[in-house]
Amino acid sequence: MSRGTRLLVGRTRRDTGLRFVATLLALSLITAAASLLHNAQAKSREQLEQRQKDRVALSASFVDSYLDGIMDREKAVATRLLIAQDPQILDAAFQEVVEAFGFTAAVVLDNRGALLASYPSSPSTLGKNIAAKDAHLRSAVGGRRAVSTIVPSAVTGEPVAGLAVPFGSGEGRRVISGAYNINDTPLREFLHNASALSGSASFLVDTSLNVVASSTPTQGAVRKLSSEDAPLAEALAQRASGHYRAAKRQRFFVSAQVGRTPWTLVTSVPRTTLYAPVSGASRLVPWFIIGLLGLAVMIAGPLAAGLIESRRRLRISHQQLQHIASLDELTGLFNRRYVREQLSAHLAGSRRHGYPVSVAVLDLDHFKRINDTFGHSAGDTVLSDVARAMAAQLRAEDVLCRWGGEEFLLLLPHLDADGADRAADRMRAAVEQLAIPVGTGGDIIHVTLSAGVSTNRPDEHPDALIHRADLALYVAKTSGRNRVKRAEFGIRPSDPIVS
Ligand code: GH3
Ligand code: MG
Ligand code: MG
Repeated sequence: MSRGTRLLVGRTRRDTGLRFVATLLALSLITAAASLLHNAQAKSREQLEQRQKDRVALSASFVDSYLDGIMDREKAVATRLLIAQDPQILDAAFQEVVEAFGFTAAVVLDNRGALLASYPSSPSTLGKNIAAKDAHLRSAVGGRRAVSTIVPSAVTGEPVAGLAVPFGSGEGRRVISGAYNINDTPLREFLHNASALSGSASFLVDTSLNVVASSTPTQGAVRKLSSEDAPLAEALAQRASGHYRAAKRQRFFVSAQVGRTPWTLVTSVPRTTLYAPVSGASRLVPWFIIGLLGLAVMIAGPLAAGLIESRRRLRISHQQLQHIASLDELTGLFNRRYVREQLSAHLAGSRRHGYPVSVAVLDLDHFKRINDTFGHSAGDTVLSDVARAMAAQLRAEDVLCRWGGEEFLLLLPHLDADGADRAADRMRAAVEQLAIPVGTGGDIIHVTLSAGVSTNRPDEHPDALIHRADLALYVAKTSGRNRVKRAEFGIRPSDPIVS
């Protein structure tokens, strides 16, 4: 496996890992979003329940003030009309008041609870204390207005409630208590309208869970909540508000005490209606969006990763191609084109920053003889071994190329003539050390090289620089080979002095 291929495979494994982590991250983000949404929707449900509780509490306080209003009127009328001491005058006035209020039954008591007048009239009870048996009458005799629990009307059997109010003062204080058929009052209408949510039901009940009034009108006798709405009665017996099941549907109920009366307002509503603002089709929209997002991540994630991966591979193979194109096939050194580019770049750098750039041209000595003696392929082996030995001597920024045939060019940026001389000589010495086995006959080849070195003049053209190195190489060849010669600065650029 080549280094490049290993590189590719290594990165691909890492990319798969990255893609996995990215997908995991995206999925956990979506999960977090979904859980946030879920919590938000649960919170909205809590808020809707709270709003329903507030609504019922408000209705209960309305009922309370409605009752207070009736009792205010009872008190005002009684204070004006029912103060006579004479039983007959009192009774006549009382009959008028009963008619005006439409009481199904009514009583007037003195400040000790003794009956002064009654409707329907009951002569045998007159003067007797009747407050003792009724809590609301007792309370009114004691000075506090009060509402009774539900009792069947003595006349019609329909459910009635008494509203007892003290009026007058001191020894003259009296109590009037009138009984109303609540279903005939605007309260019933109010309960009906208070149950604004569709499918909801409201009941006004007393402490024995007798129905005072309800949003669905009932006629006839006193009824228990349990016979009107058994599941609700059962739920209310356990707690003041919460969820329960009726006719296979989940419902939510809330109850609220009506002021200081023995009455409670209970409202129940189907959960689907209550939660409609967050549980209708619109509730599904954010879930739908999250689902789509998830799908998009699942599809687009790998697609995008694949795209990035193929672009990366393309870039790498392009880089590899470029690298290969700048290499010499036999020796693996850089080729002529590449070193020319580098030399031009460094000469430009030298002009800008003033650092020296040197080159060395190195040529193997009597190479023709090697070819002639051992054959061309032995010559090739020598060339690549020599190349490897020279490459081992390079500094990081040096560039060694095969200039052509058995000739090499060494580019030495930031080295002056002395430095370049030493560098070239290190190459020469390294090659001289080589013992290169060739063929199968146990032949060992020793080879030497000669080199010419030149350092750039100001604004010197690359070709001129190489040419001067070539001249120095010629001197090295002619003065005995296996040596390095340098082209010194001449008086004129075209006139190098070679030492
Ligand atoms: P000197 O340089 O010392 O004057 O003698 P030389 O024998 O090396 O002379 P010259 O540089 O003129 O000869 C170069 C020879 O190198 C000629 C050619 O046969 C041989 N040569 C050039 N390229 C290759 C190559 O790629 N492989 C092999 N095996 N030989 C090559
Ligand atoms: Mg040669
Ligand atoms: Mg040559």
